[in-house]
Amino acid sequence: MSYKALYRTYRPMTFDEVAGQKHIIQTLKNALKENKIAHAYLFCGPRGTGKTTMARIFAKALNCEKGFGEQCNECENCRAIIEGRHPDVIEIDAASNRGIDDIRDLVSKVKYAPILGQYKVYIIDEVHMMTNEAFNALLKTLEEPPEKTVFILATTEPYKLMPTILSRCQRYDFTKVSDGDIYNRLFDILQNEHIQMDDDALSSLVKLADGGVRDALSMLDQVIAYQGNNITLKTIEELYGLSSKEEKINLLVACDKKDISTLTSTIQTFAENGIDIKRLTLDLLDILKDLLIYQTTKDESLLKFISISDVDSLPLPVKKINYWIDTLLQANSQFKMVNNVLSLFEITLLKLASYEEEKKEEVKVIEKVVEVKKPTIIQEEKKEEIKTEEIKEEVLPLTFTNVSFSSVNTFVEEGTPINYTLDDIVNIMVQATKEEKTKIVNNWKLLDKLLTHPKVGKYASTLKMTTPRIVCKSAVVFDSNFKSNVTKINLKENQYGFSKVVEALYGENCIVLCMSQQDYIEAVKKFTNLQQANKLPSAREITIDVKINSTPQKTQTELLAEELKGE
Ligand SMILES: [Zn+2]
Repeated sequence: MSYKALYRTYRPMTFDEVAGQKHIIQTLKNALKENKIAHAYLFCGPRGTGKTTMARIFAKALNCEKGFGEQCNECENCRAIIEGRHPDVIEIDAASNRGIDDIRDLVSKVKYAPILGQYKVYIIDEVHMMTNEAFNALLKTLEEPPEKTVFILATTEPYKLMPTILSRCQRYDFTKVSDGDIYNRLFDILQNEHIQMDDDALSSLVKLADGGVRDALSMLDQVIAYQGNNITLKTIEELYGLSSKEEKINLLVACDKKDISTLTSTIQTFAENGIDIKRLTLDLLDILKDLLIYQTTKDESLLKFISISDVDSLPLPVKKINYWIDTLLQANSQFKMVNNVLSLFEITLLKLASYEEEKKEEVKVIEKVVEVKKPTIIQEEKKEEIKTEEIKEEVLPLTFTNVSFSSVNTFVEEGTPINYTLDDIVNIMVQATKEEKTKIVNNWKLLDKLLTHPKVGKYASTLKMTTPRIVCKSAVVFDSNFKSNVTKINLKENQYGFSKVVEALYGENCIVLCMSQQDYIEAVKKFTNLQQANKLPSAREITIDVKINSTPQKTQTELLAEELKGE
């Protein structure tokens, strides 16, 4: 006998076997009991939550020979529905190519009475995928529904349906199935199949299924095919690229101890082992949630993902946990927008590591790197803070009005890229200081005033999407999540405009460069390695070939305009 997938073998055959969706089952059962059957039902909800399964069970309940509302699974009608050969129960997949033809066929035959059963049931899956033509044909049928005919429309995207369709259907919203319900379902199946699986392995699988019963069963199929019997958490971790709890705890401990080299090497190992970074981020959030609950309640029994010894290894104050949670949540929402998930993850963890309790602010990695060079005596640090305060006052009066934008060229989208090397960046890092960066950061808000400026608005809005990272008197390096920003800032044609805008914020005439976050991290790594090996080069002149001092060449149009004005 050929192997049959678990989700087919264990497809629920009666209302009572369905995992979750209790509110829907109750309503449908009542409708059957009172014989109040609607002409059209709309089943909406996430994939794998049992919409078509429920539709088939409902079709059986309408046609079972044992009695109206029964699902005996033995009579001819029930058997025919289970085997997909009942002439009165017609399933249409609107997403398939045949969808439109099927609907036409449906419309032409809908007027005929049921052949075998009491009710004709049309189950239309993925109904939002139907063409307008098919929709209109269906709508006509829904407007004048024939006797003893029931339409069940299933969709994951109900908002794509026309209001005229929605208004003619009784709507049921399927929800993600609870972890507990999925756990129980899988537990029963494992018992039935005589397969041994550790409890933590099963819990981990349930979590991966994220509320989808079909996904849960497909994954269980995979796990059984991979391991056979005696399934452990290690099996699940290997198969789905999950990191172990210890690895996750160690990662957070490294963040807490600001152990950057362990942090970057662990992430590297994760990458090599194909760890699912998005899943890992959610797991870290689960751990932090546990920590937060424990820190506020001191109740060990509330720990869901970690043990009390894990809590001891991460003695984090509540404020820090909150900051970490916010930062990880932010990264989680950005993953879908970036190409390099790993790089964003790495930056996020460096951000976690840079949290400073006393200063209550996030200190950028590069500042930490620079600080390491200085002796860390408490008195020295205090002095430095005072100096920062003085600088703040000193730079505040500086405004963009001090800088003339009159000779700035029109912003270009394409042009000649500025050539620079990683060594050039390291050279800028060697000369960079925290004080210089503070000047730009303190004036960053001025950028908003430039956003609508006729000459430099586009330059300002591009810079707005970046973060100043490395600042010395003759060069400023930004980084950005967006590749197009990096490209545009690094164009020779735009350099003069960017240097003018930066001058307005910073008061210095300097080279402006932008790196991708990934490249920036590479540069920080290189700098750190050189520093640790005591091999940092001494500062030299920055020799990147760009023009920032003299007025750039004017365009033909501008020359013509000046000529006309009589200049
Ligand atoms: Zn039956």
